[in-house]
Amino acid sequence: MTRTLRAVIFDVDGVLVDSPHEQAWREALAGFADPAGFTTAFYQAHVAGKPRLEGARATLERLGGPGAAASAALYADRKQAAIERLIAEGDFAAFPDAVRLALGLERTGMRRVLASSSKNADAMLARVDLPDGRQLLSLFDADVSGRDLPRGKPDPALFLLAADTAGAEPAQCVVVEDAPAGIAAAVAGGMAALGIARLGDAAGLSAAGADLVVTSLDDLDVAALAVGILRAHPPAGPHTA
Ligand SMILES: [Mg+2]
Repeated sequence: MTRTLRAVIFDVDGVLVDSPHEQAWREALAGFADPAGFTTAFYQAHVAGKPRLEGARATLERLGGPGAAASAALYADRKQAAIERLIAEGDFAAFPDAVRLALGLERTGMRRVLASSSKNADAMLARVDLPDGRQLLSLFDADVSGRDLPRGKPDPALFLLAADTAGAEPAQCVVVEDAPAGIAAAVAGGMAALGIARLGDAAGLSAAGADLVVTSLDDLDVAALAVGILRAHPPAGPHTA
């Protein structure tokens, strides 16, 4: 693929930050359904990347008894209270490879935009300090996270807003996502899609339409990206110099 890429749009949870959303969803499920059914695989397949109420409904439809989905709004509220407590306790960390990517992109001059479904993204990124004393949040040019839109991922609305905010056409953007719903949103928006498979879920990201899937963001060839090519570093070959 060759195209001029001007902006990189980042999902936050699972891409930049090892956030406690999954833990918050599981904790809050007590009283609605058996939390033991809320595995990491379940979270990635049915909840990750979706707006809160849709995630709550998807969970209760699958793990709750008949009519459980009627409690989705209450479950969503309890999950929000849990995530706010976990964030306030500082119970999360940034992924080092993601921090290195953001710093590398800053040097290329490509625009960097945050586009999480969560309204808590900026609160988390503002709490992560970089070695040079800046906040992780400061590495990004714009943040459209948590905007109220008619539909969440896999609808492309949030990413299209991110592209517009960056002054880029959709075809000039690459989206970095860890969830199949986010990859699908990027594809639906006409953007390049980079999947980060931290949980051994590369197949799901590829199936959703990712142009490239890596298991570490260190594998991304940033110099190539800056000239419009989305690829991983070539494997180290024999030394011929
Ligand atoms: Mg995510």
